[in-house]
Amino acid sequence: DAKAAGRGRHTVYSDALGERSRRRLDIEHGLRHAIAQGELALHWQPKVHIRDWQIVGAEALMRWQHPTLGPISPLEFIPVAEQCGLIGALGQLGLREACRAAAGPLAGLRVSVNVSALQLKEERFVDSVREALASCALPATMLELEITESVFIDNAQGALSQLHALHALGVQIALDDFGTGYSSLAYLRRFPFDTLKIDRAFVNEVLLREDARIIVRTIAQMATALGMSTVCEGVESAQQLAAVSQAGCEQIQGYLVSKPRTLAEFVQLRQDWHRLPPITAQLH
Ligand code: C2E
Ligand code: MG
Ligand code: MG
Ligand code: MG
Repeated sequence: DAKAAGRGRHTVYSDALGERSRRRLDIEHGLRHAIAQGELALHWQPKVHIRDWQIVGAEALMRWQHPTLGPISPLEFIPVAEQCGLIGALGQLGLREACRAAAGPLAGLRVSVNVSALQLKEERFVDSVREALASCALPATMLELEITESVFIDNAQGALSQLHALHALGVQIALDDFGTGYSSLAYLRRFPFDTLKIDRAFVNEVLLREDARIIVRTIAQMATALGMSTVCEGVESAQQLAAVSQAGCEQIQGYLVSKPRTLAEFVQLRQDWHRLPPITAQLH
């Protein structure tokens, strides 16, 4: 009857809720161990210059293999790390590992590391970047930090001064996921970003919608005119590559070239690169 069904639904509902908070707790507790136990690792995704089809950089993307829950996406564990005060430790881990890779197996490539808005709030952050560079004698220009527009939501002044200090060291700064967040063009003038990364949402629709094409072209023109380079994120097909290339974008990153891979797999890709047929051949 209705009453029994109602109770049943209630049970299912609270079980689902219980399961969600259970997972949230497992992730939070797991993260503390993961940082100590080395369950976290960086994977690497190439950035390719469209004009000469060379790999010019690599973005470090954090991966976590949980002992019982299996692989957990950074889209799930980064927000948890931010909420429970672990993003600083996790960020340091990533930054140091990225600099080691950049000074070693990835020598000659600029490496990009994602930085959370909360990390940028810490006054120590600039020093910790300087230390990470010094510890492996990596020139600052070989490191790029990717930040999102969320850093400007509150404490914009603090974020700007930290970014200026990092830039003064020679560290490159990229604005990630451009066009989806709190896009204020004023920040493009107040901070000299080296690179704009055009969000995957536009690239996804570039073949389907004229407005997405116009937006990509307009962002690319503006960035170029302001002296910034552009990267289109999430390019998955040769047709999308042709469209973003025609729109004036300089570099691409996406599954068309490669999914993020382990360091060893990335090194292999780099070795094989000159023997692979250039995808740009398909453009003509
Ligand atoms: P993001 O920085 O915008 O990174 C790009 C995301 O798009 C990555 O997801 C990448 O695997 C994915 N991607 C790349 N090419 C394609 C494509 O062609 N198609 C599709 N569908 N996806 C593509 P991932 O690795 O899951 O990372 C998600 C987000 O998590 C990142 O977005 C970044 O905001 C955050 N993140 C990852 N690692 C770190 C880290 O070490 N620190 C911090 N603070 N955030 C991180
Ligand atoms: Mg990024
Ligand atoms: Mg992005
Ligand atoms: Mg993103």
